Amino acid sequence: MSGKLIDGRKVAELLRAEVREDVEAWVAAGNRPPFLQVVQVGADPGSTTYIGAKTRACRDVGIDSATERLPDTISARELRNAVLRHNENDQVDGILVQLPLPGHLSSHAVIESIDYRKDVDGFHPMNVGRLSLDQPTFRSCTPAGIFELFKHYSIPVKSRHAVVVGASNIVGSPMATMLSRENTSGKATTTICHKFTKDLTQHTISADILVVAAGQPNLIRGEMVKEGVVVIDVGINRIADDTEDRGYRLVGDCHFESVREKASWITPVPGGVGPMTVAMLMKNTLLAAKGSIYPKPE
Ligand code: NAD
Repeated sequence: MSGKLIDGRKVAELLRAEVREDVEAWVAAGNRPPFLQVVQVGADPGSTTYIGAKTRACRDVGIDSATERLPDTISARELRNAVLRHNENDQVDGILVQLPLPGHLSSHAVIESIDYRKDVDGFHPMNVGRLSLDQPTFRSCTPAGIFELFKHYSIPVKSRHAVVVGASNIVGSPMATMLSRENTSGKATTTICHKFTKDLTQHTISADILVVAAGQPNLIRGEMVKEGVVVIDVGINRIADDTEDRGYRLVGDCHFESVREKASWITPVPGGVGPMTVAMLMKNTLLAAKGSIYPKPE
């Protein structure tokens, strides 16, 4: 078997077209365009690239955005005050603090300082808690985007064995939560693996659906999965490559060729999960503007 490719670029474009139409209707009804406030601390080139992709996507769908750039020497208190100002600004619908933060700042503290009604990344404890309780919430963008891929390709999740490799607060944990909830979302039997898992293959080999978000190139190889598995490779890793102008290429966490041999479906890197994450951010920002999750005060 050679797995069919899951085209995240295409599905993300369809989703963005839907958001664009909804934004147009929202504005035509007399509302101002949704507004996303991005906060960048320091000048990490990776963060700058991600923010560029997000603000371009905003422009593309008719969402207004601004990026506040703060020095990497900023104190925790100053950063908190910056976030609180955006919380209080009625013109701001969504707030995104780009991670990672410089080492002296706690991402937990910063995320908790964001008004949960503007937390379009879905990282605030209120939104994480509501996800765990199967309540309407801002769902973390990467797992939510993966669910959109399942929907688009009619990939069944219910009652299957889903294995998530990686347990971060941003990807692995909310992914496992969404897969395992038995009311609104996944309804799958779910296993979570992380760096302390002994004998990873023992778990991955029985997966019907395998989501890998470990940040380790070639972690998953063909012999670690079964025939027909659906593979979602979230990893984005830079590998030195002299044949590329920029000196590197992007690879996922799977050894693509050998895993594809066994898979029924597989996401490529790049062009799989990444574009979906950005598209879901647009969707969450629109939901925030409309007060769809948390109604806005009259
Ligand atoms: P992280 O470093 O915060 O977490 C990595 C997780 O993987 C941890 O739970 C760790 O225990 C686990 N892990 C590490 N080595 C392992 C091993 N050998 N076996 C089993 N588990 C192992 O990373 P993250 O923020 O969750 O991101 C993971 C990857 O996904 C990175 O490559 C990141 O760049 C990528 N990412 C992609 C998107 C996207 O939109 N495509 C979004 C976010 C993150």
